[in-house]
Amino acid sequence: MKRKKIVAGNWKMNKTLEEGTRLALDVAAQLPESETITVLCPPFTHIAAVSNAVAGSGIHVGAQNCHPEASGAYTGEVSTYMLKSAGASYVVLGHSERRVLFGETDAFIAQKVSAALSSGLIPIFCCGELLDARESGQQEAVVKEQVSGGLFHLDTGQFAQVVVAYEPVWAIGTGRTASPQQAQEMHQYIRHLIAAKYGDSVASATTILYGGSCKPDNAGELFSQPDVDGGLIGGASLNAADFVAIVNSMA
Ligand code: PEP
Repeated sequence: MKRKKIVAGNWKMNKTLEEGTRLALDVAAQLPESETITVLCPPFTHIAAVSNAVAGSGIHVGAQNCHPEASGAYTGEVSTYMLKSAGASYVVLGHSERRVLFGETDAFIAQKVSAALSSGLIPIFCCGELLDARESGQQEAVVKEQVSGGLFHLDTGQFAQVVVAYEPVWAIGTGRTASPQQAQEMHQYIRHLIAAKYGDSVASATTILYGGSCKPDNAGELFSQPDVDGGLIGGASLNAADFVAIVNSMA
């Protein structure tokens, strides 16, 4: 089965509403028609405006987080239903910044994954090891724990909706990207974990993105690896020309 190719931009906590709307309009104007699914993930406050800005362009909008409950006394939180009603169709979950800076556990991320799926949002589930785990050869063990703890409660039909992003934490925002070989090894390993749990056909249909200092000059080689199905892009997604160049290198 042909896997979906996806390039998603994670704007993190950047851009005012006006700047973000401008960026979305610029991306929409510069992006040629392609089979690659393009997703913009602005801050919560910009989701509705960005959705309006890209309406009709084929670009999808995602959030960077959600709360697992549908509503209630959770001051400062945003539910999947709110995201959906604002125009989001994807949500990034388990990003390393959420895990490291905000203490999110695999169990909490697993609840968010379920909530996202039940409201019709596609989770972009992030996993990846810290530098010390890579240096001590623990990258597979770390990723196995994250993937099984965050996703393997799902049934096969639910899992089939999920997009996985491998993001080695030592490569995020550091300018130090994983080599294409390192990315391929880990993507192949993740696909093998999925195959062991859900079977080969589900594994071979799962989109696995690479994230971590992916830029216009290295995206082509990363994306040409057989198990790399696109990218989750941080810094380079804040510039329309760079982001569009990365999407174009998927072709
Ligand atoms: C990210 O935050 O998901 C990311 C990949 O960031 P960067 O591209 O800036 O390394």
